[in-house]
Amino acid sequence: MLWSRSSHTNLIDCQLNSTMRLVSGCLHPTQTQRLPVPSNIPSPNLRRQSAVDKMLCKIVNHQDWPVHTDVFSQASQRLSSRHPIWLDLSPVDMNSQWKEDWQSASVTNCALVEDPTSRQPGFDLPRCSWALLIRFRAGQGTCKASMYKWGLTKSPLSSCGDPQTMDHTVNSCPLIKFEGGLTILHEAEDDAVNWLNSVATTSAFAK
Ligand SMILES: [Zn+2]
Repeated sequence: MLWSRSSHTNLIDCQLNSTMRLVSGCLHPTQTQRLPVPSNIPSPNLRRQSAVDKMLCKIVNHQDWPVHTDVFSQASQRLSSRHPIWLDLSPVDMNSQWKEDWQSASVTNCALVEDPTSRQPGFDLPRCSWALLIRFRAGQGTCKASMYKWGLTKSPLSSCGDPQTMDHTVNSCPLIKFEGGLTILHEAEDDAVNWLNSVATTSAFAK
């Protein structure tokens, strides 16, 4: 419970977010607020809050526990805390808070996601297709524009002459775009999966 209010939780959050990138296949530049959705794992903050709520629920029901007095009947003389847990004992509904966080985060292409707490279309796809799909959703992938920015290729341009961003590739490249664009690709139907597979085998996108 003390840990949930610690100012050092961000150090652990970096590792937890890194794990969500690994699980989902998101690249490092992907916005942190997006990571819980493709991995279908609540954010570290929400997981901590949920654990605290469960613990408080147990404490409320056990008045004979010494910790009950610590939380609900604090003595006047004690070490001060800037973030005492008893200032806010109301439980948080994790899914509601997750939806609220998602809507307020201004994540790229967030309008595609109706319910951030549910598994997104294509969740059961093979790793290669799934990772590529969520990179198109996130707008962050191994397209030439990014590779050029990272110093890994000599040109940011697609074969059509325009900068090869993830958005350009799926929505507007005359040579390779997906019919219906990202909105239809997001649904992960058979056509989308076939397109993802063809993109993965004919370019560097699967890396
Ligand atoms: Zn192009």
